[in-house]
Amino acid sequence: MSILSAPHFHNETAAIARLEDIVWPQGPFCPRCGGFDRITPVKGGRAGLRRCGPCKREFTVTVGTIFERSHVKLHKWFQAAHLMASSKKGISAHQLHRTLKVQYKTAWFMEHRLREAMRELNPTEPLGGEGKTVEMDETFIGGLEKNKHRSKRQHKGTGGVGKEAVYALVERRVACAPITFQLSQRTI
Ligand SMILES: [Zn+2]
Repeated sequence: MSILSAPHFHNETAAIARLEDIVWPQGPFCPRCGGFDRITPVKGGRAGLRRCGPCKREFTVTVGTIFERSHVKLHKWFQAAHLMASSKKGISAHQLHRTLKVQYKTAWFMEHRLREAMRELNPTEPLGGEGKTVEMDETFIGGLEKNKHRSKRQHKGTGGVGKEAVYALVERRVACAPITFQLSQRTI
């Protein structure tokens, strides 16, 4: 079996489940209020749609990711990401268009988004240098322990427990682009 025979490259439900494992290692949380509590699947809704009990917001795991509001199926995004990341010289939008059987315009857009996302994780040039100012900050994302379901809580103390540590580095330039990365490395 090749890597590409994994279900998340072919089956949309499997692709959504895969992304959920990556984005929500501790279970789904609401992108609006950060809560873990009373998050239920929306009956009859599109695949992966959930509703947050406390704030009533409906969302899928793609909210806040590069896949948000895309009409392209997630399993095709996974194929594209794999093709781009596994080929040394990258892959042209034309090749992507022919391989994924999506319109050229769509392939171009997907490639652009994926490249942007990959660039942020692997900045090509180091930040800072002589006469440059780099600012750094850290934060923890994820809901409060007390809002999580009992079975998901970690009883290890306070602060960042059970949350994802995110560092942001910003180099002061004329046009200032923050570079953020998550501490835990995850792959598709
Ligand atoms: Zn909510």
